[in-house]
Amino acid sequence: MAVSIKSEREIELMRESCRRLEIVHNALGEMIKPGISTLDIDRYGEELIRQQDGIPNFLNYNGFPASICVSVNKEVVHGIPKKDRILREGDIVSLDAGLIYKGYHSDAARTYAVGKISPEVQQLMDVTKQAFFEGIKYAKEGYHLHDISNAIDDYVSRFGYGIVRELVGHGIGTKLHEDPQIPNFRQKSRGVKLKAGMTLAIEPMINMGRPDVEWLDDDWTVVASDGLPSAHYENTILITEGEPEILTLSSEP
Ligand code: MG
Repeated sequence: MAVSIKSEREIELMRESCRRLEIVHNALGEMIKPGISTLDIDRYGEELIRQQDGIPNFLNYNGFPASICVSVNKEVVHGIPKKDRILREGDIVSLDAGLIYKGYHSDAARTYAVGKISPEVQQLMDVTKQAFFEGIKYAKEGYHLHDISNAIDDYVSRFGYGIVRELVGHGIGTKLHEDPQIPNFRQKSRGVKLKAGMTLAIEPMINMGRPDVEWLDDDWTVVASDGLPSAHYENTILITEGEPEILTLSSEP
């Protein structure tokens, strides 16, 4: 497994791709409210990506028919936007979006509450987001890849949630999915050594109940088998000799 190390020039392009994606995500986050359809989110998302001189990297990826993956409640990831899928008060919705800018990919996901949600579901969202931050404490030179996986697992397991195993994070750069794969659950080996210049998409996908997932008949939408809610949080990061740079997140912790 060869993990690419980006040059300074490539890192600048990754930063720029990710900066533009963050703008898209922030604008999409503001539109979330009861009554809109998941297709409304996709349409606006594609428009925003193109306004940023980006190309939607999910559109037509292995045949995916939209620019934004919009996954509601028990849907874990890869929800296909639809005109008749209307967000309702109390839902949670995960938006996974990415773009290509000057040949470089960015990838990030956020889960939002639609109106008022239960404290239990809010906790699931909070823990999923915090799992990312627990993981990246080890995302620096001197640690190994699976230190990130183990830290995410240790944190999430305290809450009794199910960590999705079938889907994992990944390297990212001139391709959306590069080596290495980055599991969100405990690994026996330590994995590759982390080196400055690696760019990684770290993305905990956490189920409120059991970890088991299944694919719907559309061959894309992944759902929690037990029907309980699932949350997703992802950023593209840069490994450095010190703290990681969170390339798709400039304004939050
Ligand atoms: Mg990803």
